[in-house]
Amino acid sequence: MPGNLAPAHRVGIGYDIHRIESDASPEAGLILAGVKIPCPWKVIAHSDGDLVLHALCDALLGAVAAGDLGEQFPDTDPAHRGRDSTEFLAHILALPVLNGWRIGNVDINVIAQVPRLSAHKPGMRQRLAELLALPLDRIGLKARTNEGVDAVGEKRAVQAQAVVLIEAP
Ligand code: MG
Repeated sequence: MPGNLAPAHRVGIGYDIHRIESDASPEAGLILAGVKIPCPWKVIAHSDGDLVLHALCDALLGAVAAGDLGEQFPDTDPAHRGRDSTEFLAHILALPVLNGWRIGNVDINVIAQVPRLSAHKPGMRQRLAELLALPLDRIGLKARTNEGVDAVGEKRAVQAQAVVLIEAP
């Protein structure tokens, strides 16, 4: 019957948004794609608030229809307070349901009115390549503003979108 063939490739999509607040303290900054971005802002989050990695985790889970990050790591669990999101990603990459699948490529949008991210794009791509053990040319990352509109444009939030293609074991 058509549709029962095991696919050679699967695709997943992920999205995340976190609120931000201005922060004049010396340790202020956002963590995006595992990279600390020094800036007079902080993210409101239960974990370290790395919305790029959260979107990427959801894309990976979506590709294998394995639920979402909130199911894996409930934000009501005090154990995840301030948690390094690279640990979330490592956990998901090690899930049995992803065993044998290889990542073809990932593509990410980061949408932030603040901070300006253009100078940080190479570092974020490099860190993602390390975290995923992929060559740099399989990591797409675009950063853009929201043209001053909506919560992101009004400097109240930062957003990320991720797509991942995985190849059959
Ligand atoms: Mg999140």
